Amino acid sequence: MARRDQVGGQPLVDGTVAIRFWGVRGSISCPGPDTVRYGGNTSCVELRCGDRLLIFDGGSGLRPLGRELVKSGQPLDIDLFYSHTHLDHIIGLPFFAPCYESRHRIHLWAGHLQPDTGIEAALCRMMSAPLFPIPIDIFAAAIDFHDFSAGETLNPHPGIELRTAPLNHPNAATGYRIDYGGKTVAYITDTEHQPDRLDRNVMRLIRHADVMIYDATYTDDEYPAHRNWGHSTWQQGVRLASAAKVGQLVLFHHDPSHDDSFMDRVAAEAAEARPGTIVAREGLVLRL
Ligand SMILES: [Zn+2]
Ligand SMILES: [Zn+2]
Repeated sequence: MARRDQVGGQPLVDGTVAIRFWGVRGSISCPGPDTVRYGGNTSCVELRCGDRLLIFDGGSGLRPLGRELVKSGQPLDIDLFYSHTHLDHIIGLPFFAPCYESRHRIHLWAGHLQPDTGIEAALCRMMSAPLFPIPIDIFAAAIDFHDFSAGETLNPHPGIELRTAPLNHPNAATGYRIDYGGKTVAYITDTEHQPDRLDRNVMRLIRHADVMIYDATYTDDEYPAHRNWGHSTWQQGVRLASAAKVGQLVLFHHDPSHDDSFMDRVAAEAAEARPGTIVAREGLVLRL
């Protein structure tokens, strides 16, 4: 079981694997008095593998992460892996402070856009008139765009391996399995399950993972009204995690209509269904 910290502020670098959640919502950010405890920012997860910084998705949670990162004044070399390019996963990039400092290098990765287009074109489109006031070429940092095809294995740095697979989502999405130092983290969002079976692509990525972060937008009760919307349920997360012998299941990509008390109920029910299961919230840190 991963160790749990509830911190803000401290650097995560200590030579092992650590995860910090900066945005845990799906669809749209939802700040307000009813979401203060779990948080209102959209998908953004910081993963430290030794001294390497990997980020999964650049939703609105990327903005506070960026502010934290530039505090040190040190040059940064960052890899940001997108699950896909729906707005809730990319809207943070123009507000990511390292983009505006020339001493940093940022690698942006996506596996769902080949062969038709690519991640650079998608992000340029978001940052273009009349949708956004400044174009992407205003960034001062060195930005490298890396397109791959979901299913490929990536080795961005020595000792860090990412296996990838396509997920079941409108316009496609990519799931990731990250192996480093004998630890495994799976990042699986946004994906819809088939109610009568376990997704084989997902099963391959999560098998025996220490931590599995999973799209738990809905409950099983809510799901029938949202069929074909491209999302899953916490109960399906439990079924997958148990079948794949995952260490710890972390429920993620919460529906913006699920307020803190709703999420408390999900947390209690999920922990009862599969002990150790937790609900991601902003500021949550897991050390492996
Ligand atoms: Zn999403
Ligand atoms: Zn999506």
